[in-house]
Amino acid sequence: MPILVMKFGGTSVADLERIGNAAQKVAREVARGYDVIVIVSAMSGKTNELVDWVEQTSPLFDAREYDAVVSSGETVTAGLMALTLQEMDVPARSWQGWQVPLHTTSAHSAARIESIPRDHIDQKFDEGMKVAVVAGFQGISPEGRITTLGRGGSDTTAVAFAAAFEAERCDIYTDVDGVYTTDPRITDKARKLPRIAFEEMLELASLGAKVLQTRSVELAMRNKVKLRVLSSFEDNDETSGTLVCDEEDIMESNVVAGVAYSRDEAKMTLVSVADRPGIAAAIFGPLSDAGVNVDMIVQNISEEGRTDMTFSCPTNQVSRAEAAMEKAKAEGEINYHGLIADTDVAKVSVVGIGMRSHAGVAARMFQALRDENINIKVITTSEIKISVLIDRKYMELAVQALHDAFDLATAG
Ligand code: ADP
Ligand code: ASP
Ligand code: MG
Repeated sequence: MPILVMKFGGTSVADLERIGNAAQKVAREVARGYDVIVIVSAMSGKTNELVDWVEQTSPLFDAREYDAVVSSGETVTAGLMALTLQEMDVPARSWQGWQVPLHTTSAHSAARIESIPRDHIDQKFDEGMKVAVVAGFQGISPEGRITTLGRGGSDTTAVAFAAAFEAERCDIYTDVDGVYTTDPRITDKARKLPRIAFEEMLELASLGAKVLQTRSVELAMRNKVKLRVLSSFEDNDETSGTLVCDEEDIMESNVVAGVAYSRDEAKMTLVSVADRPGIAAAIFGPLSDAGVNVDMIVQNISEEGRTDMTFSCPTNQVSRAEAAMEKAKAEGEINYHGLIADTDVAKVSVVGIGMRSHAGVAARMFQALRDENINIKVITTSEIKISVLIDRKYMELAVQALHDAFDLATAG
């Protein structure tokens, strides 16, 4: 039998009625002749609640117990989905991550998938089971402890299963009907893309578009998984949603494919550090050792042998970054006059493969921001993206302005 992977996100399994609605979509695919692997998320809001409980109980929590708690949301929906399907006379059973077992690294709360043995689930399919319902987001470490794959990780579970079981397709059912030129919650001019290239989706996801977890896109690209994003609230057919595919499979596209944003950014400035060889290594080495994910970096102009160094990192890593810098200062590795943390910033980015062959994208972007009087604090570029850090209060305005400036409401 051909295998299909169907993943349902939090809003798609938010209550029993929605689980019923999702189960009907699964039953329809079974009736079409597929063996189905269903990956479920926790009911919407559940994971946030669990994280909150952990943080209230133990601010500097043991990451292994964090994973034991936050993985439980998916456990519940997997069982409920299997029961719902059984009530519909569809032979189904549930698996928790450790039962498959989905082997991961021991990086608790951000574990990476190492392998997914097929034998157990294959055997059940051979015996007549039609649907394997697997709890997303969870795995098991080499030490035998429960792990989780990072927020949004059920997308990655789904793609990993599609790769391991050579599924015909991996369908990600969510609360929007596809990938848009920008988050449709920010502007109603956002346009659904029928197709998007892996590389563009990868950039959009890593720059904040949470419709797919970044690692899921990476995994799909590497394993040539046919990945589709579609709505769990609509009737769909073969052409519904957005197909994430190779660049060659897209006929026409705009220079800029989409605009992404991230509220979760902080701008840190080390004031007056010595401008000498090795200073960047002395700053960013300890930050990396402390697990701080530094994104943008700017070294300002040097005066009398001293300079300011600015970098950005996720807001929840600010105290970790501060502690690492204070330690490096105390140990005499670096010397600075002050460390300023600005957490009222946001990152806005434009992404498009077309940038490789079209000049002037940056100029157009900066012009559009100037027209709205938005000050740019930091800029970074790569081959197919340009990101700016701006005051958070202008974030929506910036996204809308860039969406207009690059004519994203109309297909290229
Ligand atoms: P799920 O719970 O199904 O995993 P998520 O909330 O993780 O869903 O992701 C879907 C959300 O992603 C949408 O509701 C939308 O607000 C947001 N989003 C951000 N950028 C985009 C984009 N470019 N296209 C579509 N959705 C986007
Ligand atoms: N429930 C997890 C989260 O909210 C994983 C997921 O939904 O993909 O992050
Ligand atoms: Mg998600």
